[in-house]
Amino acid sequence: KTPTPPDIAARAKEIRAGNRAALARAITLIESRRADHQAAARALVQELLPATGRAIRVGITGSPGVGKSTTIDALGMYLIEQGHKVAVLAVDPSSARTGGSILGDKTRMARLSAEPHAFIRPSPSSGTLGGVAAKTREAMLLCEAAGFDVVLVETVGIGQSETAVCDMTDFFLALMLPGAGDELQGIKKGLVELADMIAINKADGDNIARANLAAGEYRAALHILTPRSPHWQPPVATYSAVTGNGIAGLWQSILDHRNATQAPGEFDARRREQQVKWMWTMLEDRWKARLKSDPAIRTKVKHTEAAVAEGRITPAIGADQIAELLA
Ligand code: GDP
Repeated sequence: KTPTPPDIAARAKEIRAGNRAALARAITLIESRRADHQAAARALVQELLPATGRAIRVGITGSPGVGKSTTIDALGMYLIEQGHKVAVLAVDPSSARTGGSILGDKTRMARLSAEPHAFIRPSPSSGTLGGVAAKTREAMLLCEAAGFDVVLVETVGIGQSETAVCDMTDFFLALMLPGAGDELQGIKKGLVELADMIAINKADGDNIARANLAAGEYRAALHILTPRSPHWQPPVATYSAVTGNGIAGLWQSILDHRNATQAPGEFDARRREQQVKWMWTMLEDRWKARLKSDPAIRTKVKHTEAAVAEGRITPAIGADQIAELLA
């Protein structure tokens, strides 16, 4: 094992002391494309690894307008009142195209962003979903090392990014709207199969009856699906992020889930699986990047591809040839 460079050790110490500026700088390091920054970031995360893993990690998804930021603001404020320190991160691969992240934007969480016990960071805008997710995951570890004991990871309701966030969190919360035919859409998208809880927002004023109706439909739908876990039946709840009604119930369900899955070992097993899966994803990304970036390899891959396309060699032989290039 190579010794930790002194500057990495110093940075790690600042982060462990809860220094927010140091935390923000370290996340910027993680997001940098420069090879030396990436190497330093890797060393820093490794150095801080023993101080990670103590937070409850919650993924929050929902279509635009469902009330994600209002909910995170309300839930975050509730958690801070309970003595927690809350980090808010986001996975929004579309931010690479639009040039700025909407998710995790401080202006969207007015109360929470003014809290010293909250840390809000918009989505990295690094291109691929895999890249964005990897950076968010590492940022999450740094937040944990800095003492944040609840991490909320927000994502928009788009299939692949939801899976990515589900794969980095302990509890995956799907937010829905009352009525609007939204219900069956969620089920079709397979989202309901990922969710550890379905919460119907905006259950206030005229919406209450419709919200209850929607809740009934989701409960019926969940009933016919085999739950992901033998120890947890995803609940369906209604709440209002604006009035705060039901916000405490969201948190209670998250705690109930942890209690129900921790004793049978499922909680830790989920994290172990996530870590190994993460490693393989990174390895695949690296392989793909090498196949694309090394010009000599790229030329040979093109030839192999052509040979397979024209039926001169079998795909199996082609795979052998490419695997040899990477060896
Ligand atoms: P996001 O796009 O999912 O982050 O949604 P926002 O949090 O920005 O909320 C979208 C709109 O819904 C805003 O106008 C909010 O004021 C409104 N909204 C959010 N939560 C509630 C709620 O609980 N009740 C009502 N009536 N409106 C809400």
